Amino acid sequence: MDNLIYLDHAATTPLDSAVLDAMLPFLKENYGSASTLYSIGRAASEAVEEARIRVARLIDAAPEEIYFTSGGTESDVWVMFGVPSAKEKKGKHIITSKIEHKAVLEPCKILEKRGYTITYLDVDPNGLIDIDQLAAAITDQTVLISIMHANNEIGTIEPVEQIGKIAQEKGIHFHTDSVQTAGHIPVDVQAIGCNSLAISAHKLYGPKGVGIAYIRKGSRVDRLMPGGGQEANKRAGTHNVAGIVGLGKAAELALERMPKEAEETTRLRDALISGIESRIKDVKLNGHRVKRIPNNVNFSFEGVEGESLILLMDMNGICVSSGSACTSGSLDPSHVLMSLGLRHEQAHGSLRMTLGKDNNMAHIEKVLEVLPGIVNRLREMSPLYSK
Ligand code: PLP
Repeated sequence: MDNLIYLDHAATTPLDSAVLDAMLPFLKENYGSASTLYSIGRAASEAVEEARIRVARLIDAAPEEIYFTSGGTESDVWVMFGVPSAKEKKGKHIITSKIEHKAVLEPCKILEKRGYTITYLDVDPNGLIDIDQLAAAITDQTVLISIMHANNEIGTIEPVEQIGKIAQEKGIHFHTDSVQTAGHIPVDVQAIGCNSLAISAHKLYGPKGVGIAYIRKGSRVDRLMPGGGQEANKRAGTHNVAGIVGLGKAAELALERMPKEAEETTRLRDALISGIESRIKDVKLNGHRVKRIPNNVNFSFEGVEGESLILLMDMNGICVSSGSACTSGSLDPSHVLMSLGLRHEQAHGSLRMTLGKDNNMAHIEKVLEVLPGIVNRLREMSPLYSK
């Protein structure tokens, strides 16, 4: 749709046309499997290796530390099961936070059933973990620390470099989910000091269904997907060549565009935040005001249901998302917002708007033009709002 205003880039991004162009030959003439020896297979294999180099460059890794997967979920799940399994003899304790993505939390639940003890770190009202609490939680049984780089709902950036330092000192595997940061802010595995990291292509203008797990050389992670010998025998399955090529192109473009894009997105984000705060009363910004990824705006509106806001915004051609909209279809409020200490009604009355490279100030002005009226209308009908 031409005049659609898309503000849900944390959910997924549109495919960049240059990325599509790079992918097309591998869906058409170069359809060979990357594991074969004839020319169209070799072309595919060379393209996969070129993509590996491009992704490695984005995060300052070595190409052989990049393993292609089906996306962020698989990369997280692989590490969450693969590290405990490889370190079984050392112990059965894992440290994570209460605001991780379900791709980390659900494996934790399964591991608990298998006898693992999981420490779920609290976060402060801005969504930050406490580094001292993390250090205090470490025992001689701890085999894995998994803390996300930035949260997908509230945009808070966690102190990953500090965590990396502690984990390295103690010799504990540190995994970070950088699905929301890679391609948007610098993600440098050397500076972070992580042993593994997850990236998903469709969050940086690449295709859906492809991502990577970065695994530092020497870090022990048992494989999740046995089968053929692809990906150095660590992740079997015929390569998703077109998807991988798309991810490589997206990584290359992200590296070029990042400084300018982050600056522009931050400008739009701050205009949206201050515009909402000055035009609508009884609102609360969720997430850290400063330690925040450039594209995230998340507000709770007193006395309003997030779902109603989404539908009315959609009627105005604006795509946004709500903190309480769950993939599971349940009406439980977001575990992230509840961990910040919000009341149920506040968590239900939240709206997430995540910006992208094609947004501009006219889009922000349009949101600021329609949102106050929508909130007022819903409040007038709401038994929960009496101010
Ligand atoms: N981790 C985070 C923080 C995410 O935001 C997402 C996607 O929403 C994922 C993991 C899962 O990534 P994918 O959709 O590639 O499986």
